[in-house]
Amino acid sequence: MEFFGSNSAFRQVHAVAQQALRQASHCVTIHLVTRLLLSLLLSEFLGLASLQAAKTLDIHFIDVEGGQATLMITPAGESLLVDTGWPGFENRDADRIVDAARKAGVSKIDWLIITHFHTDHVGGLKQLAAKIPIVNFVDHGKTVETSTGTLNLYAGYEELAAKGKRHTVKPGDKLPLKGLNIEVLAAHGNATTRKGAPNSSCAGVERKAPDPSDNAQSVGVLITYGKFRFLDLGDLTWNKELDLVCPENRIGKVDVYLTTHHGMDSSGPPALVHAIAPKVAVMNNGEKKGGSPAAWKVVKSSPGLQDLWQVHFAAAGGADANVDEKMIANLMGQNTGHSIVLSAENNGKFKVTNSRNGFSKSY
Ligand SMILES: [Zn+2]
Repeated sequence: MEFFGSNSAFRQVHAVAQQALRQASHCVTIHLVTRLLLSLLLSEFLGLASLQAAKTLDIHFIDVEGGQATLMITPAGESLLVDTGWPGFENRDADRIVDAARKAGVSKIDWLIITHFHTDHVGGLKQLAAKIPIVNFVDHGKTVETSTGTLNLYAGYEELAAKGKRHTVKPGDKLPLKGLNIEVLAAHGNATTRKGAPNSSCAGVERKAPDPSDNAQSVGVLITYGKFRFLDLGDLTWNKELDLVCPENRIGKVDVYLTTHHGMDSSGPPALVHAIAPKVAVMNNGEKKGGSPAAWKVVKSSPGLQDLWQVHFAAAGGADANVDEKMIANLMGQNTGHSIVLSAENNGKFKVTNSRNGFSKSY
């Protein structure tokens, strides 16, 4: 019980109660009442202490206006960032990431996953690296695109990753963060080969034309903390997502799903979303990017879904395809960088909070 012995608040409570006990010792009735009070104080304190001791995996869905920047702080205090948002805008996205990290008590990024080499995911890297140290860099390998823009983004990444430790991953690889199981399910166009239950949603499923872009190469990860499971597939597109769940669901069910590709309808097939059956989905859409009504409806109709939270109000969704305002971090016309923050316990319970209005809900 060293924890309590070192706590001055506990010592004060204990001393006051002991003194009360001594003073009341001449009277049996008062003595009993005081003992009762002491035990109540103790149980109250123990409850508080166990709350303070609860270790959580915290996930910050940082608003980068239609890109990705998902910052996780592990129970062991390590940090994992998935993507860096956009460049430009006077360091807007780098500042938002660093701000979230500092508020979470983090002074470096231990692990950075770059899902793929598009400007809304890796574009902000240079600005970010100038503001906070990054230790490990995770990627899918060389970009498959040949445009000057993407090749420049890739070259910029290679240069910065060479200053840290670079890890090019493939499905089945795991990232060695303490207390978590972080498994790569997709990378460089390949899908995990692990086994799963047959997926009835695959019957008659339609595939789309092959996607030659770097989206289809996205690193997709499943993050498990005890009973809590969180899926982030970057900007993976339709056919590659189907490879993960058809004919068998190689992912299993998850608690939380970051809607693939900002909630665009070129991603997020029902055969995937409905098979992983998230309790909660978070959509990292911008006001005018992602959040397409078709993709939104696939998520909203997913069996077992309790809530969908949005980083932005989606202009495309209008009144019909947006969630209740209290679960949207940034309303129409807002460029204020509010985020959705999630805190998960290893028993599978988690709480989601909207940083704009403080509204939160437990699951
Ligand atoms: Zn994107």
